[in-house]
This record gives sequence, structure tokens and C-alpha cells, in this order.
Amino acid sequence: MRVPRIYSPQPLAPTQSVLLELSVSKHLLSVLRLKPGALVKVFDGAGREFEACLVGIEKHRARVLIKSEIQNRSESPLKIILAQGISRGERMDFTLQKSVELGVAEIMPVMTERSVVRLDEGNATRKQHHWQQTIISACEQSGRAQLPALHAPISLQGLLAKHFNAQKLLLDPEARGSLHALERPMNASVLLLVGPEGGLSDAEREAASHAGFLGVRLGPRILRTETAALVALSLLQDRWGDLGS
Ligand code: SAH
Repeated sequence: MRVPRIYSPQPLAPTQSVLLELSVSKHLLSVLRLKPGALVKVFDGAGREFEACLVGIEKHRARVLIKSEIQNRSESPLKIILAQGISRGERMDFTLQKSVELGVAEIMPVMTERSVVRLDEGNATRKQHHWQQTIISACEQSGRAQLPALHAPISLQGLLAKHFNAQKLLLDPEARGSLHALERPMNASVLLLVGPEGGLSDAEREAASHAGFLGVRLGPRILRTETAALVALSLLQDRWGDLGS
């Protein structure tokens, strides 16, 4: 059986014994039915990963003994911040999951004019938690030990007013230029802005352009928002990141 990989926010170090969180324990004990002696891999979300052994069960929580550190080299040399116009539930989840697999460094959910999903205080917290869980699962599955940062939802105006030390790109079906025409981005950092399912309004695209975003188009067809984000991430990682390695 493949050794399960799990995330724990607790400080991890060799020879330490750690009582894992309840939800993770439930997965290990009830779903995978691991017994004491079983091997697991635990990562801290900040890039470090360890081999560990299940040594006990205390009040439904799994206790593991941390053994040696495992070198984890799954982070891309290209830093991509995905600023994604908030799309409907499943679509957004899909985009987050796949962008983690494709090595995104940071995710900024962006509220735009045509975002169908309206976030109020109550559901914003719930959504944020759900998105965070989606990111954690994608890291566990894809072998990453670094959790991409998930920022709080920001308005498009807020995003455009922020300073970024990165090449700012706007995915725009009406743009003239393509990704192929680009030079290697400064600091190997890219901020990628993708519209929600309804796209960005003309005023928003203009504002983005004023804020220094370069419009790029991905071929002659209109892609769904989740397709557009993933195609761009793949092309960027292939060109300047680690997809070809
Ligand atoms: N009806 C909308 C389509 C939006 S598609 C419109 O006409 O604007 C959702 C988002 O995906 C867009 O805002 C854009 O960021 C991205 N996108 C879709 N197809 C694209 C393409 N061919 N090139 C670049 N970006 C694209």
C-alpha cells in the first residue's frame, strides 16, 4: 500500500511524538484502518516532510513517532500567484485543486463585478475553510510539503491597488499577445489574473491594464474559467517552472 501522506500544523521534528488532529486521525484510523506500527508521512505545510510511525491511539487520536526527515523537492522555481475571479462552488474547488497540483505558490480569490457567488461574513469564513481543506488534500495527494498560501478574498480594486514584485498577466480572450511572446518574468514571479465564469467587464479589464497587467490570450477559443487558469499554469510551468523536469 502507498504510504499515506498527511498534513499537520504542529511543529514536527525527528524523535518527537505527536498527537495528530482528530480529522486526520479519523482518516488514518477509520478510513485507512491503520494499526500501530504502520508507516505514514507527515508534512508541516512549510516545506518539511518526515517519515513517521503510528505508535498509539488516544481518545480517537493517532499518536505518531516522527522519524527521519525526507527531502521534498516538489516546489517550482517559478512563483505563480493565481488571482482567481471567484467562480461557482465546484468550479472554484476544481481550480484550486488543480492549481495546487500544478505548483501554484499563492492563491488570491478575487471578487469581481460578475462573480455570481456573493460572500457575506458568514459564508466567507465557511468558504475559506472549505478552500483551505481543498488545498490541504491536494498537497497530501500531489506530494507537496508546502501549502500554497490562501489569501482572504479581495476585491478587484483591492488587488489592483496592491504592489507585487511580479510580472502581472491578465488572461483575456480579446488580448492580442500570447504567453509565447513573453520574456522570462522578473524574479521568476508571475501574478496571473483570471476572470470568473462571466469574465471581467470592460471597465475591469481596462483598470487591470492601467494597473500594469499585460493581457494575454490562450488561443482563439473561449475557455471556461477553470480551463483557462489550468492551461496558463501548465504553459507557465512548462516554460519557466518545473513541468518539463
Ligand atoms: N463570456 C466571457 C467568457 C469568460 S471566460 C467573456 O466573453 O469575457 C472566463 C475567464 O477565462 C476570462 O475572464 C479569462 O480570464 C479566461 N479566458 C477564457 N478563455 C480565454 C482565452 N482564450 N484566452 C485568455 N483567457 C481566457
